[in-house]
Amino acid sequence: MNKFPNDLLTGYSAFRNGSFAIEQQRYFDLAEHGQTPATLLIACCDSRVSPEVIFQTKPGELFVIRNVANLVPPHKPDNECHSTSAALEYAVSVLKVQNIVVMGHGGCGGIAAAIDAQLNGAIGGEFIDHWIELLKPSITGTLSHKDLAGAKLQSHAEKDSIIRSIENLRTFPIVTEAEKSGAITLHGAWFEVKSGELSILDRDSGKFIEP
Ligand SMILES: [Zn+2]
Repeated sequence: MNKFPNDLLTGYSAFRNGSFAIEQQRYFDLAEHGQTPATLLIACCDSRVSPEVIFQTKPGELFVIRNVANLVPPHKPDNECHSTSAALEYAVSVLKVQNIVVMGHGGCGGIAAAIDAQLNGAIGGEFIDHWIELLKPSITGTLSHKDLAGAKLQSHAEKDSIIRSIENLRTFPIVTEAEKSGAITLHGAWFEVKSGELSILDRDSGKFIEP
């Protein structure tokens, strides 16, 4: 048998004897009755930005989609495999979540790669290049601000892409219908890894502010 990563086994043991033991009834109920999470959270794959850790949620509370650079592609039903759109559809149509949060983060490698690709050409890979093409409008817009450089340029692109992902959410008829009826609210958030600070997209000003 292949050797399973030891750190994962150690963590699992702590979980099984610790938080699982404490919350056994919750797990039992969730298994018996299914999940009813109130929020769909779309986050980056980045190992530093685990939504369940940042928001201290319990099992069953958060339905999470994680992909490179926390992107929502536009509604495009065709014969391709759309993992993010499929999970979004499930969350809205079946689970009937009440909130969708797109959460970006500081120092996002996907955003950095997209900036690099736009400035210096494609970065290669069979899938990444095409995926981060979704970021093109954000990167083009950000690069047009000539006063931006370094970390400020990067965070501007990170935040702009969150706004564009929310716009893309609204290209899904099921999302716009739910939003129109008041059944769902769309949110943006940005997490700074270094400081642990979260800022929230203010709908009126379009700016990210402290909650
Ligand atoms: Zn990232």
